[in-house]
Amino acid sequence: MSEKNDLLRPALGGFRWEGVEREAYKAEGAASFRGVSRQRLFADPRLAAELRYFEIAPGGFSSLERHAHLHAVMVLRGRGRCLIGDTAHDLAPHDLVTIPEWTWHQFRAAPDEPLGFLCLVDAARDRPRPPDAHDLAALRAIPAAAEFLDGALAREPQEGDGGSCDFSPKAPTG
Ligand code: MN
Repeated sequence: MSEKNDLLRPALGGFRWEGVEREAYKAEGAASFRGVSRQRLFADPRLAAELRYFEIAPGGFSSLERHAHLHAVMVLRGRGRCLIGDTAHDLAPHDLVTIPEWTWHQFRAAPDEPLGFLCLVDAARDRPRPPDAHDLAALRAIPAAAEFLDGALAREPQEGDGGSCDFSPKAPTG
């Protein structure tokens, strides 16, 4: 990314960019996400942050998780919903979303539209934690959260489902 040839990476259309790999998540045991791809737009070691573009296919969802680092999100395309703590929100293009530290969150695309969004994170960040049975019970005691989770998880598993959504083994931790 520091090479002169990388100073401009043109948009290719379709929310793809020259020189940016589209990464798909692979199954890692428990199916906790569906239809999520990630493109790392800016992952320059001279920056303290990374900017990624995530896209969730229609009906798909990111993993339910929380962690010490924050997410700063801007919706770029489509429709969907997100759970932030005990509240579910509708999402539309150009909405801005802040996920505070240690707050349960999950993104879900509409049944008939993808959901694409930019997500800014610390380059050095902790690994996302999935909920345990106690955490899930506490979330399900909140009606809005229970309704959101039922909508995200009520579908049959499909190809492309996988485990932890938002952790890059190449990224520094801590
Ligand atoms: Mn996260």
